[in-house]
Amino acid sequence: MATPAVAEGVSAAAVTALRAVLRRAHQAAERSGRRPEAVRVVAVGKTKPVSLIRQLYDAGHRCFGENYVQEIVEKAPQLPSDIEWHYIGHLQSNKAKSLLASVPNLDMVQSVDNEKVSSCWFGTQASEVLVQVNTSGEESKSGINPSNCVELAKHVKHSCPNLIFSGLMTIGMRDYSSKPENFLALSKCREEVSKALDLPQEQFELSMGMSGDFEQAIEMGSTNVRIGSIIFGPREYPNRKQA
Ligand SMILES: *Cc1c(COP(=O)(O)O)cnc(C)c1O
Repeated sequence: MATPAVAEGVSAAAVTALRAVLRRAHQAAERSGRRPEAVRVVAVGKTKPVSLIRQLYDAGHRCFGENYVQEIVEKAPQLPSDIEWHYIGHLQSNKAKSLLASVPNLDMVQSVDNEKVSSCWFGTQASEVLVQVNTSGEESKSGINPSNCVELAKHVKHSCPNLIFSGLMTIGMRDYSSKPENFLALSKCREEVSKALDLPQEQFELSMGMSGDFEQAIEMGSTNVRIGSIIFGPREYPNRKQA
């Protein structure tokens, strides 16, 4: 693929950083005996301007993630419609409707963690979803307890006709450098769910790995990494608590 030209200077920094991440992700996939395409890199632009996301788009990237409904709902209509959006934040059932209505090019919701929210898709387009598991045990984190993953995955698969159960997601420890135990716990959940639902393990996704730990996550079987700060630079939250 030809490398598209990008503007010089500050604006090129994010593109350069993205290319470095893609290269490292591909190498990690190869180290784990998989093809580079086996791992999706979602660029997480939360708190960052649309113009910066646009630069990555112009450089050829298509997968972007956001974790606030309000933000994705504002940004998505200002950007090209062939972007594949991933919603990775906590989803309240009262906000799900506006997410689904405003982002027709929503590729996946990675963060379903209760039955109530899974009922919100009634009457809307079908979506691929991941069930979010809290593997670190921190109360500040969303996600179901690992012991409930089979139950929720079953519910999504069998009782939600507009949801396509596609796998599991987790966030690591708070410092964003996950302990391998978190990733092992998610792999173990996948084993249990794949047995209970009779799905081949290769057919479902593990979304784990962020800026600080994505290579390790890929080596441990991740199919989807969510990368923010090392592409876009550190986030600034005026009066907001860190997600
Ligand atoms: C912000 C965020 C990320 C990206 O985190 P970085 O450490 O900046 O790469 C990944 N996943 C979720 C759920 C997030 O909210």
